[in-house]
Amino acid sequence: MKRTLYLKFLIAYLLFGIFGFIMVATFVSNMTVEHVRRNTAESLYAEATQIANTYAADLYNSETSLDAVMQQLTALSKYMNGAKIWIVNPSGRLVLDSSRTIEQSEEIKIDGFDPTITAGSYYTIGNFFNSFSEDNLSVFAPITASYKVQAYVVIHVPMSQIRHKADEFLNISYLMLVVLFLLSLIILIFFTELVYIPLRRITQATEQYAIGNMDYEFSVESEDEMGYLAASLSYMAGEIARQEDDQKKFVANVSHDFRSPLTSIRGYLSAMLDGTIPPEMHDKYLGIVLNETDRLTKLTNGLLTLNNLNARGMLLEKTEFDINQVIRNTAASFEMTCRQKTIAIELVLTDDKMLVFADMSKIQQVLYNLLDNAIKFSHHDSVIKIETTEKKNKVFVSVKDSGIGIPKEDQKMVWERFYKSDTSRGKDKKGTGLGLAIVKEIIRAHGENINVISTVGVGTEFIFSIPKSASMDSDEEV
Ligand code: ATP
Ligand code: MG
Repeated sequence: MKRTLYLKFLIAYLLFGIFGFIMVATFVSNMTVEHVRRNTAESLYAEATQIANTYAADLYNSETSLDAVMQQLTALSKYMNGAKIWIVNPSGRLVLDSSRTIEQSEEIKIDGFDPTITAGSYYTIGNFFNSFSEDNLSVFAPITASYKVQAYVVIHVPMSQIRHKADEFLNISYLMLVVLFLLSLIILIFFTELVYIPLRRITQATEQYAIGNMDYEFSVESEDEMGYLAASLSYMAGEIARQEDDQKKFVANVSHDFRSPLTSIRGYLSAMLDGTIPPEMHDKYLGIVLNETDRLTKLTNGLLTLNNLNARGMLLEKTEFDINQVIRNTAASFEMTCRQKTIAIELVLTDDKMLVFADMSKIQQVLYNLLDNAIKFSHHDSVIKIETTEKKNKVFVSVKDSGIGIPKEDQKMVWERFYKSDTSRGKDKKGTGLGLAIVKEIIRAHGENINVISTVGVGTEFIFSIPKSASMDSDEEV
């Protein structure tokens, strides 16, 4: 499996680092240099004004000597990390330089000296009218005496010194960046632990499920979306495995139920052919063979019905019909069977007519299957009661017999395909065990319910609901 997600996340992480570095190297760097320059210029200007107002003013007021001022400025210059302090008069002549002594005879003139070079500000950056080989930050402060600008105090600091200072600040920013980068490793660790590892487990599991290994077990123990996804996935696998199991059981049941009638048919037929059964007995055994083929037909039909019902979104042809009439008709169709067993069917129907809204032929099938069971599992000379009751917008239909009953532990199982309780096996050899499965599917497709109440030796009652027709409701309201 490719580790692309991890790779992508790593790339994103590296990009974060690279962009962070670029930001610091450009924006932050420029901002720092700018900040240090302005700060230095401000403090130098304060210094220059101070000098202009004290020592230099004294000089022009002839209160002190040039030498004395020179000494003080040299000391000051040392204190200011070797910044050069000049006094320049308006014509450009250098009067004093803190870094060297100017002889009386010497006349140093700064060509093109122009105090307005600062252009509104109090400092300028450059080689100060070609006085230096490298760039300097030069701050101006005028010396006024007798209401006239006598000269200027100029303080120079090499730009390299300012940059060096800025670099020191910048290093702190780089250090912070590295710390941040390392701290963000925590995110990477979280991502690995919380997303990447669980995701890998989940993908591995899906691969296993895809190749049919439904028993593959895995666990993601986190109570978040990942944990939920993993739990849903393993639940899904469990469901598929269960369905596969059901399918196998179903096929096994079908084959078993087909095989036994086929075996007996074959047995009787070959016995007739080889004379084991004498010709005069043929009629009796052909009757049995016919019964077995009936059973096979019933089985096939039942399976086909169930198969159709099971298809998702089973199409119901819902119409409005009188359930009482359907009950009467179904009961009538069992008249012959009832007469043989002297069983009476008692109908307790609410109202003459009870309109419901459902698939008529399927509801008829439900009634048929329930009544068939009731008669099959009833004793001779007993009564079967079919009752309808109305509650809210539903009609409840009950089919109640006083037959053998269904043991409590079997009551849940009777709805399963091919299920036949042990007690009933002796009584009914023809049953396929599909009748109630079909009933259940039909009622479920209608969005309704069916229940069973039964006591062994006393009897059984099946009750199901169907929706009353809307027109019945409005009839009542009128
Ligand atoms: P088929 O309906 O295909 O003839 P069947 O009647 O055996 O076969 P179901 O109708 O699904 O199958 O019923 C399943 C089982 O439930 C029956 O075999 C029987 O054991 C039990 N059962 C159903 N109805 C009754 C009842 N009224 N009284 C007692 N047992 C019942
Ligand atoms: Mg049945």
